[in-house]
Amino acid sequence: MAEQPRLLEGLDPEQREAVVAPRGPVCVLAGAGTGKTRTITHRIAYLVQRGLVAPQQVLAVTFTARAAGEMRTRLRALGAAGVQAQTFHAAAFRQLRYFWPRVHDSQVWPLTDNKFRLVMQAAGRVGLPTEKESVRDLAGEIEWSKACLVGPEQYPAAAAAAGRDAPAPPEQVSQVFAGYEKLKNGAQVLDFDDLLLHTAAILEEHPEIAEEFRDRYRSFVVDEYQDVNPLQQRVLDAWLGKRDDLTVVGDANQTIYSFAGAAPKWLVGFPRRFPEATVVRLERDYRSTPQVVALANQVIDAARERPSGTRLRLVGQRPDGPRPNFAEFDDEPAEAHAIAHKIAKLAKQGVALSEMAILFRVNAQSEVYEKALADAEIPYQVRGGERFFARTEVRQAMVTLRAAASRYEQSGDLPADVREVLTEVGLTDEPPGGGAARERWESLIALVELAEELAATVPEADLARYVAELDVRAESQHPPTVEGVTLASLHAAKGLEWDAVFLAGLVEGTLPIQHADTPAAIEEERRLLYVGVTRAREHLQLSWALSRAEGGRRYRRRSRFVYNLVPDDHPAALPAKVKERETVAAPSKAKPRCRVCNTTLVNTMDIKLARCSDCPSDVDEGLLEQLKAWRSERARQLKVPSYVVFTDA
Ligand code: ATP
Ligand code: MG
Repeated sequence: MAEQPRLLEGLDPEQREAVVAPRGPVCVLAGAGTGKTRTITHRIAYLVQRGLVAPQQVLAVTFTARAAGEMRTRLRALGAAGVQAQTFHAAAFRQLRYFWPRVHDSQVWPLTDNKFRLVMQAAGRVGLPTEKESVRDLAGEIEWSKACLVGPEQYPAAAAAAGRDAPAPPEQVSQVFAGYEKLKNGAQVLDFDDLLLHTAAILEEHPEIAEEFRDRYRSFVVDEYQDVNPLQQRVLDAWLGKRDDLTVVGDANQTIYSFAGAAPKWLVGFPRRFPEATVVRLERDYRSTPQVVALANQVIDAARERPSGTRLRLVGQRPDGPRPNFAEFDDEPAEAHAIAHKIAKLAKQGVALSEMAILFRVNAQSEVYEKALADAEIPYQVRGGERFFARTEVRQAMVTLRAAASRYEQSGDLPADVREVLTEVGLTDEPPGGGAARERWESLIALVELAEELAATVPEADLARYVAELDVRAESQHPPTVEGVTLASLHAAKGLEWDAVFLAGLVEGTLPIQHADTPAAIEEERRLLYVGVTRAREHLQLSWALSRAEGGRRYRRRSRFVYNLVPDDHPAALPAKVKERETVAAPSKAKPRCRVCNTTLVNTMDIKLARCSDCPSDVDEGLLEQLKAWRSERARQLKVPSYVVFTDA
């Protein structure tokens, strides 16, 4: 008989405690890189190896298909083949295909590309714009509502309470939502959220099906539990029924999807919901050098408020490495060029290209890095975002610019001409508030900046020359390759790790993103930086550029988050006086929050009670007072800028 994998080797005592805990509720609350994902994979394999559960009785869910795939591979290697590791949607779809015909006497068809068409149709009927970006933003609102179990009629109140930046008057969004549901139901198709809604509803309403399901699946595991939304939680509850064989792991400081309805309250509240749960806190960081860990601690220490129970510090376990670097550049092309140069240098020192990543806030930022890497002949892959020249708005813009090139007489002012032509495809002077419209704007502005760049180097260049230049750039970009440097948004980087990480474009308006205009939204941006910093095993650089285009006006400011991170003896540090002058207190636009778990409240009744429906009413008042006092004291102590005023002096 082949030797069984030794599943308890290579685990620390706390990880081992979670792995060997008897079947029942288990909760691992821990920071990034502490081995949460490793712990749950080992736990599943351990229970299977010991014969405590059969592999097909375990359902492990995580948030991306890639993470699910990786978990299946790991489980196979640990001798636990046959365990289902899936995303919530994939798991629900699989179940629904089986149960739906028994309840509805028909088949299910999930909606894929025609969802967009239906939202567009519904928007048109209400008289709202039907161009791609507004429809995408409307679809985003519908998704948020469904994720929060909010119906069309409840949308206006819920959106107001949650401080949503609605893409249209809330009553109209609500009409589009209702219209979309009607069209979809008429066509007898289901969207992704319906897969979850119907799965929960069938299990809730059909006890015989629920019994059959619960006989089949007996043990549940959730990774990245901090990003669960109310709809997913409802499905999880329907899966569980009255049972409690559930292992969850997460890090409340890595909640980065609250804009889409996710909330860490279920993670933080787990020990309260299951008082008999095995609760493990991990502090040893196995991923990153102590230098990177120290910076991660600094980022998260500066957070203005954190859900209770999340004050975990990371303790680095790896040998010392280089100090994280901070770098300021005059313009973005210089920043990108320097990063490409450093990547080439690290590659020469033996760091594999696939072990390096450039991470940024919005996908529109990727173009300048794609170009710099292509110029340096470094292969790369873009994860979770279209390559710049493949984006719809960029393709549209190029068609329009090409057509205009034959119309325009040779250059007065090339950038002005490009700007004018691009107004035809929707370029506005001021950036739109946010969402898809903002990303589209960013792409178009990037094209104007390419024109500025060209005009600076070839003063006689006209529109025709510019279009030719664009064609060459589009052509010369490397096709995506798996062996290259990864370019990814911070959202897409969750759960992953690289030897070298470059956090680029850390300027005000980008991180934090411009439309993050409430304290809660700013905190989510800060958590994104935390996620970014904690992706690095060894080399880490944080950089920003004071202008976008080469030779442009230096009107951009380093992100408020990096102010106090730069060590005083670092060349990028600012004199203390400047720091002080540029730092003022945050404007307070506090949202009503639950006094127990501190999540934002949505329902009117909850707001009145100052408590969300998931938290118990009989909480220890003394403890609450202590918590409040601690929070305000902490806020007073923190001299960290949360809002920065700049002068050009
Ligand atoms: P994140 O919050 O980013 O998802 P995580 O807590 O899930 O992080 P893992 O990805 O499981 O962390 O682990 C981080 C790294 O540390 C991995 O490379 C993993 O193999 C390694 N690791 C975890 N535990 C140990 C250990 N006990 N000994 C050595 N290495 C470990
Ligand atoms: Mg993980």
